[in-house]
Amino acid sequence: MTTDNRSESAPCGEKRYTAVEQTMQRFDYQEHGLVEVLITAQEEFGYLSKDLLTHVADKLHIPLSQVYGVATFYDMFTLEAAGATHAMVCTGPACFIVGSKDVLAEACEFAGISEPGQTSADGKYSVKEATCLGLCDQAPAVLVNKQAQVNIAIDDVPAMLQGQASSPCIQVSGEPRILTAPIGRLSPTDLDAHRSEGAFTALEKALCTMTPEEIIKEVKDSRLSGRGGAGFQTGIKWQLAREAPGKNKYVVCNFDESEPGTFKDRVLMEGNPFRVLEGMTISACATGAHKGYIFIRGEYPTATDIVEEAVDKLYAGNLLGDDILGSGYSVDIEVQHNAGAYICGEETALFETIEGKRGHPRIKPPFPTQVGLFGKPTVINNVETLAVVPSLILNGGEWFCQWGMGKSIGLKLFCLSGHIKKPGIVEVPLGLTVRELIENFGGGFVGEPQAILVGGAAGGFLHPDELDTPLTHEDLAQLEVPIGSGAIMVFNQSVDLWQVLQALAHFFVHETCGQCAPCRLGTMQIYKLLNKINLGIAKSIDLQRIEDLGGTIKNTCVCGLGMTAANPVLTVLHHFNTTPRV
Ligand code: SF4
Repeated sequence: MTTDNRSESAPCGEKRYTAVEQTMQRFDYQEHGLVEVLITAQEEFGYLSKDLLTHVADKLHIPLSQVYGVATFYDMFTLEAAGATHAMVCTGPACFIVGSKDVLAEACEFAGISEPGQTSADGKYSVKEATCLGLCDQAPAVLVNKQAQVNIAIDDVPAMLQGQASSPCIQVSGEPRILTAPIGRLSPTDLDAHRSEGAFTALEKALCTMTPEEIIKEVKDSRLSGRGGAGFQTGIKWQLAREAPGKNKYVVCNFDESEPGTFKDRVLMEGNPFRVLEGMTISACATGAHKGYIFIRGEYPTATDIVEEAVDKLYAGNLLGDDILGSGYSVDIEVQHNAGAYICGEETALFETIEGKRGHPRIKPPFPTQVGLFGKPTVINNVETLAVVPSLILNGGEWFCQWGMGKSIGLKLFCLSGHIKKPGIVEVPLGLTVRELIENFGGGFVGEPQAILVGGAAGGFLHPDELDTPLTHEDLAQLEVPIGSGAIMVFNQSVDLWQVLQALAHFFVHETCGQCAPCRLGTMQIYKLLNKINLGIAKSIDLQRIEDLGGTIKNTCVCGLGMTAANPVLTVLHHFNTTPRV
């Protein structure tokens, strides 16, 4: 188990500020480095003291209120000293249904604290609730001093707090396996091994033999749609950014995978990061960008280490940086860390974080391809989307169209969790039915299925009668359910579905950025109404209130969080005969 310096005294000596100073220097004391500076400070001292925030404000020449505003926005920042052992216990839906609340309570009791969010009197322990750690296939999961541990039972809590419970493993299946092919066979950061299997031949072809327009044509021909949830056509996005006026453009890899039930991007980055980085560099060349950012969620420390090592190896191997492979084209890629905010998976909120601000989504239009990061044209793609790109360059765009159904083209990664015998990642063509996916690749159901959550907390529920629905955008849309990020979570008859709905509603109460009143207040009202249902004191009019609130939030808010926050409960109300206690 790693040790840290959380128990040391409060930061006061100049010497202790060294790492913070170095991070500020890296950003030339510009305010856009603020989130990274605070991440460094949090890691160095275990919390952000008032002295430290004042020091940062002075050095960056920005108001203390601005620094405080950022420090209190992100969930992984704390203004009070954390314990020497800091545990984050996941209570996302997959963990919730296998007893993570009991694990959380036991951890608090062991630590000698009365509730999550506190630090023990002796400073040894602090315990916090996490909304989702992206380890849903091995639930319940925890992070203890940034070390992931999984399948935690109550009896495991003492060992867990010593970092001695089970470590996670990567579980992948599917047919054909293209994006995930090297996972489990090759070391993720062994560049020579990956190159011996063809990695970066697509980059060489794109940079040395193709024009940007030819690259974009292949991506457009593939009809590849974004794999992060929104589903916009990737080739069109690249073309819009290429045609946007201005010299300075950016590419961003969105690795802020925070949707409960979703962990495919973590598995890709922990197992095959070079493929994603290759696709990202090709996207830079195609759109005319020379600078890129990989935006990594703070709850993924293992993936962060792997990605940072992979980036270093690419610079050393002339596959990033100046004059890549002698092509004359130069691209720099920087790793930017999130600090725990689901909303920053929204593309414009993500830009705000890179710019050192609170993660508040921007009003669109203008869209990022015109006005994006630092006000410049920007292409932002999901990890899985970028992982597809090298194959399109080598095989041609049409190759990808051999898989899929209707307008839902190509291969897709799905994340199986909940009451499934073999949870994990599955790589399959779009168009398989939910039943085929679970029975052929997930080993079948555990118990009798009651409901299947597709697309995560922002997705919707399928009834067991709808198990033969093909996994395509079109078929699922008829049931008001998005494919989203590819999360498939099964709940069997042992689960109280209305408790799950209340937990999902609480997730949005916690994660709303709060700038739109309908979202900020509406998510709380839905949560309260679901609480009334679960207490058995709701009236039938309350169901209509949920309907009305869901519609109002959807139609009046700024971003996708508000637009989808009521989806889970609305799909249950619309498609299930389940009668809540009203
Ligand atoms: Fe923030 Fe919600 Fe508005 Fe999105 S819809 S900007 S999360 S308040």
